[in-house]
Amino acid sequence: VEHYLHNIKEKAQLNAFLETFEEEALAQADAVDQKISNGTAGKLAGMVIGLKDVLAYKDHSLQASSQILNGFKSLYTAPAVQRLLDADAIIIGRQNCDEFAMGASNENSSFGDVLNADAPARVPGGSSGGSAVAVQADLCLASIGSDTGGSVRQPASFCGVVGFKPTYSRISRYGLIAYASSFDQIGFITKSVEDAALLLEVVAGPDGLDSTASQREVPAYSELLQADKKYKIGYIRDCFEREGLDTEVKDAILNVKDMLKDAGHEVEPVEFPYLDYMVPTYYILTTAEASSNLGRFDGVKYGFRSDNATDLTSLYKKTRAEGFGHEVQRRIMLGTFVLSADYYDAYYTKAQKVRRLIKEKTDELLQAYDFLILPTAPTTAFKLGENTANPLAMYLADIFTVQASLAGVPAISIPVGRDTNGLSIGLQLMTRSFEEPALLAFSNYIL
Ligand code: GLN
Repeated sequence: VEHYLHNIKEKAQLNAFLETFEEEALAQADAVDQKISNGTAGKLAGMVIGLKDVLAYKDHSLQASSQILNGFKSLYTAPAVQRLLDADAIIIGRQNCDEFAMGASNENSSFGDVLNADAPARVPGGSSGGSAVAVQADLCLASIGSDTGGSVRQPASFCGVVGFKPTYSRISRYGLIAYASSFDQIGFITKSVEDAALLLEVVAGPDGLDSTASQREVPAYSELLQADKKYKIGYIRDCFEREGLDTEVKDAILNVKDMLKDAGHEVEPVEFPYLDYMVPTYYILTTAEASSNLGRFDGVKYGFRSDNATDLTSLYKKTRAEGFGHEVQRRIMLGTFVLSADYYDAYYTKAQKVRRLIKEKTDELLQAYDFLILPTAPTTAFKLGENTANPLAMYLADIFTVQASLAGVPAISIPVGRDTNGLSIGLQLMTRSFEEPALLAFSNYIL
């Protein structure tokens, strides 16, 4: 804990942590030490973990890196976080992220940009940018974050670490600030696949507080990391022919593909006809859900309230105008538009139908193949400011991560190389729902 606290202070300019829980973490460490000496320590004893600022931890500030939650403290602890504590993990602090997890570069935080530790003029990715940099720069051992359309996988790819999003519903979302509820899933950023497996094993499973959480039994993922068979792997041909796909990223992923083939796995190109529809479908549905979820931040119940209000309506308007940042406002407006009576069928209903097609096609491919492999992101970490003036360019960069989110299947990003600028390249693997054991085992084998 002292080592990490020291590093956090030393590398404060990265802006990865919003705050540390210094005294508490040191006290937790002492308690864990005791347990280790008397042989009662839990599975995560010694793991020092950072929390993305979207997970409730009782009596600690929680604000999704937004000013609208300024001053708000959690009234309870998310079961996912409680299970970490119960297994003797140590929570070291709260991590910076894009406001309400909306973004792909961590440039949408009201607490300022997070810097990529490999190249300070580059973004760390987002929305879990602080969480990824924290692991990259050795500010904690692992981070727990959320992934709605790539927020754990893409920053992991940009920072050269492992980012893992389990099957939708595998982990209870209770105590996770909602962005788009039918997509949101808690995930992990780690240095190794083993750590991701161990964390999932501790955190997964229902808690009676999230009705969508799966009732399936939770396997001992960390004991199932042996990939002992030859797999059938598909790579979506279209992904590799996209304009905007960096050639170094492309070559690195195709290299892994060839290596897997040489190692005796069956690797084949597959067709996926919906690539162009992925980003529009994702943004129509997530902004719709976000506009509804964020309706609760009205200046009455949580955190910040505008001082300039004169009546109830102006209280809502002024609080929301002053409290939400630009990207969040843009998404609320987009979501409200696609849900409005005149446009509902043209956008929202249609996007739901396209989502079903994407899910069915993805599931069909995953019946024929054990894994689909593709880049996590079309580029390596881009420059700070490079995409901020063009939200569409920023959204399009999510093209490869949103498929797993639209389909609800598990996906992982593992580092497989670096480009000529020394920036990390991530390989993404997807598999069938609830087949995390094979996904983790195979990722571990590749890594
Ligand atoms: N970049 C995507 C978005 O802005 C993903 C974010 C996320 O997964 N929370 O919506």
